[in-house]
Amino acid sequence: MEKSNLLSLHPQEFIKLLTENNIKKFYFVFDNIKQQLISSHDILQPIADYLGADKRDFSKHEGLFFQLNEKYQTLMGAFVHKTNRGQSAGGVRYWHYNNIESYFRDGIRLAKGMTQKNALANLWWGGGKGVICHNPDIDKYSPLIRKEIYSEYGEFLTSLQGCYVTAEDAGTNVTDMSNIFSKTRFTTCIPQSLGGSGNPSVPTARGVISGMEAALKFLYNENLEGKVIAVQGMGNVGGPLIKFLFEKNVKKVIACDINIQIVEKLQSELPGKNLEARVADINDHSILSSECDILAPCATGAILNEKTIPGIKAKIICGAANNQLEEPARDDSLIYEKGICYIPDFLTNRMGIVNCANEQYGYVNNDNFIERHLNKEWEYSVYQTTLSVLKMAKENQSPTGKIAIETADKMAEEAHPIFGHRGKEIIESLVQNKWHI
Ligand code: NAD
Repeated sequence: MEKSNLLSLHPQEFIKLLTENNIKKFYFVFDNIKQQLISSHDILQPIADYLGADKRDFSKHEGLFFQLNEKYQTLMGAFVHKTNRGQSAGGVRYWHYNNIESYFRDGIRLAKGMTQKNALANLWWGGGKGVICHNPDIDKYSPLIRKEIYSEYGEFLTSLQGCYVTAEDAGTNVTDMSNIFSKTRFTTCIPQSLGGSGNPSVPTARGVISGMEAALKFLYNENLEGKVIAVQGMGNVGGPLIKFLFEKNVKKVIACDINIQIVEKLQSELPGKNLEARVADINDHSILSSECDILAPCATGAILNEKTIPGIKAKIICGAANNQLEEPARDDSLIYEKGICYIPDFLTNRMGIVNCANEQYGYVNNDNFIERHLNKEWEYSVYQTTLSVLKMAKENQSPTGKIAIETADKMAEEAHPIFGHRGKEIIESLVQNKWHI
């Protein structure tokens, strides 16, 4: 089949093609000698060629592995980007895609982003992402179906011998993680009742506060007191963030959410505070152009783009939402040219992965392996990393996102102090063992 025809297939049509060719598992692995992404099956090589030639999102991803859940006709994937610093780690997303091109592209883009987030946080993890492609013909909320899909995903991860360690992400929850955990040790974010680390949203909100404080210190030698902050999304991160902001004596918080219950609940929890909260329509992004000192996107991604950036009045953007820039390089530059200080999302929202990164090492009160990310002293804390990114951006007259990525990419080259580049060896073993058969 022609490359373009293959890539434009709907995931369910692609699954049909796999079934017709008796393919239950397949991979694309980067061959360092040939400098090429190689497919386990000739028929799928055009996809490997397409991904391997992509200049924006592909950067020598070490291995992409896929398995078909036959009962629910669901494609499951583990996208391993880089394992120099350790096993690739990042959440598994359960998402709908219109064609397999967008499925594969999303996976490689998100996996690379995890390498950068983990490295910049100085975690001894590589970067990876799981993506399970939702089959529109099945009920995505059925607990039974989810149990079966996530249990099989656990078996899939076991078969990958630990080159990818998963976690919760968009569309997945802690119950899904415990179903994965029933079949593999290669997951984090399991429930606290099973020895997991619990909900990371409060530490994530604290990380955002650290980023804001560093930006204010760097730009004006000031703190949050008396400032006006606009927060989009008042959910698990946005809610605690707003409470922390009032603890820091901000003058006002302007906030919105699409869910009326969430808005009313927070209003009732903060009586007497200068909280101007409203219910917004899902397509209403007017909060982004509020008169404020800091804008904190804490809802969905891709909200900073050609349409919204010109209207932004805040001097600082610092929030938790993942992938805030719709077109990263373009929008990073647009924000920079407008004289706004953008604190990259993957720097400030690291606490989600930090919180679960060391689950296997047990728990202590005020765990320094978590707390040091939130203090002002540690060289790699959110605060210090933000300061150093802002300093370098100023010296180089460059957008902050670009500087953060360059710094992260450099750190991602460093090998794990004990295990070296073991993830790559695991992938080589899988290929030698003919994992796909
Ligand atoms: P959440 O679902 O609890 O909260 C998001 C809130 O945004 C919801 O209340 C939702 O109703 C609201 N919302 C959605 N679209 C909106 C819109 N157009 N306008 C206003 N409100 C809107 O999610 P969360 O855990 O608070 O995470 C928020 C963001 O931060 C997400 O992008 C998430 O990926 C990212 N993030 C979260 C964590 C974490 O620890 N929870 C860690 C890293 C990154």
